[in-house]
Amino acid sequence: MAQLPLRDAERLQDYIYKATARAQHFIGYPIAQDFDYSELFPLLKLPLNNVGDPLIESTYDVNSRSLECEVLEFFAGLFKAPVNNWWGYVTNGGSEGNLYGLYVARELYSNGIVYYSESTHYSVQKNIQLLNLRSIVIRTQPNGEMDYDDLREMISMHRDQPVIILANIGTTMTEAKDDLKSIQGIFRELAIKNHYIHCDAALAGVYSALLDLQPGFDFSHGCDSLAISGHKFIGSPIPCGLVLVKKNYKERIGKVIPYIGTADTTISGSRNGHSPVFLWYAIKKLGSEGLKQRAIEALAIAEYAVDRLCRLGIKAWRNPDALTIVLPDPPREISVKWQLASEGGFSHIICMPGVSKEKIDQFLYELEATMEVAV
Ligand SMILES: *Cc1c(COP(=O)(O)O)cnc(C)c1O
Repeated sequence: MAQLPLRDAERLQDYIYKATARAQHFIGYPIAQDFDYSELFPLLKLPLNNVGDPLIESTYDVNSRSLECEVLEFFAGLFKAPVNNWWGYVTNGGSEGNLYGLYVARELYSNGIVYYSESTHYSVQKNIQLLNLRSIVIRTQPNGEMDYDDLREMISMHRDQPVIILANIGTTMTEAKDDLKSIQGIFRELAIKNHYIHCDAALAGVYSALLDLQPGFDFSHGCDSLAISGHKFIGSPIPCGLVLVKKNYKERIGKVIPYIGTADTTISGSRNGHSPVFLWYAIKKLGSEGLKQRAIEALAIAEYAVDRLCRLGIKAWRNPDALTIVLPDPPREISVKWQLASEGGFSHIICMPGVSKEKIDQFLYELEATMEVAV
């Protein structure tokens, strides 16, 4: 390939410089930044594509299917998927995984109603629309967790329809977790026979499972499918995720396509072949123990940050075992610089791996300075 024209080369250098600088002040989104995948650089020269089903070989052989399968096995183990009865694939992110879970639920229960809390991620409502499913929004408790009394009332009003629950394992704003036990208790109470639970574990699923945090949400606790994001806790330069479903449910989906020599069982056709390699590399390099250690360290930083904020007189709080700290919106210049998302007068900082104590101190120092000016 020819070289870039000088002006464009400068433009690119400038962009790289700015993006690198912005990554220094990035504590408002649940994105790990402590990764180094430079050993994988040679793969940027390959058009890796895992088109179609990850478990069925394709005639498109420049792929990372074999590594993708190892990644799937790791997470199937972590989330206690039923032995020999699970299926999944590496997605483009949590949203696609949620779409897939709800798609499977709809194929099982075309007349089902989806119940999800008002704290649910915006992707879910869009997915429900795409799938043309009926849905009911459930109120939340002040911490962002589903209000089970409201859920019971809503389900009891529609007892003749199958129940599809979209449970949050870490809501976007407050990292609240819905309790599968309470939800299943309602199924029993109301004698609901046809039910399906999809866990949106995009945010907190991986470290919650690694540390066996309560409440449990994996297949052994009664979920039927779950989705995680790969670029959040694990960390990846390219957004990615993973969905797992019970295989006997999913067998209703997907046709064999002669052109690609595999089955069309995934949402998108061509699939990113690089992201499974990033996930594989992280899992192999850190191992379960290393990943657990990272989670423990991140939780300690979150505890430190909430503590320091409270000592500044700021009404900051977090849910039990959460990396997300909720606080009243700080001054705009702070929110812009540190890339803090805001909703309803509250912002959050998320202590994902890569957010160091020093970074928190720097943020607090700047926040405190604006408070002094305000006084
Ligand atoms: C991030 C997130 C999603 C969406 O995941 P993407 O990987 O961004 O598609 C869905 N639900 C929750 C709770 C999330 O935090």
